[in-house]
Amino acid sequence: MRDVPSLLSMLATPEPPKPVMMPWDYVRLRRKSARLSIAEVARPYWHRPEHQADVERNVAGLEHPGVRGQWNVNLSRAMPFSADVYRQLADLPPEQHPRLCTGCGWDEFTSQYDTNGDDVTWSRENEALCTRCEQIAAREAR
Ligand SMILES: [Zn+2]
Repeated sequence: MRDVPSLLSMLATPEPPKPVMMPWDYVRLRRKSARLSIAEVARPYWHRPEHQADVERNVAGLEHPGVRGQWNVNLSRAMPFSADVYRQLADLPPEQHPRLCTGCGWDEFTSQYDTNGDDVTWSRENEALCTRCEQIAAREAR
């Protein structure tokens, strides 16, 4: 008889669940990575002072858990941000989400520089991270 793994042995070693990045996580990670405040992200989107508070409230709301922007969310005038990625996170089930850096929300179609000024790519050591986040983590570990 062939040696087949029992169902129980397969159940004993479950794959750890992959963290799911939600649209509000994406907005927050992109903003933190760019080291911008809510007000700084909102600034390119209002022109009259009486609109400032509304725009800042809308930007802040996008980081609130459970909020999926209904309008065409695009914060790329303020920071590295993909409107396509945002829509995919907001509208598609997690298994169809694009691959994103869990440290900063970077996707491979968005230009970003690492701490050496080189183009960011995927870390070879940790597939969840981009090279910029890998460099920052290595620096903080020292
Ligand atoms: Zn990253």
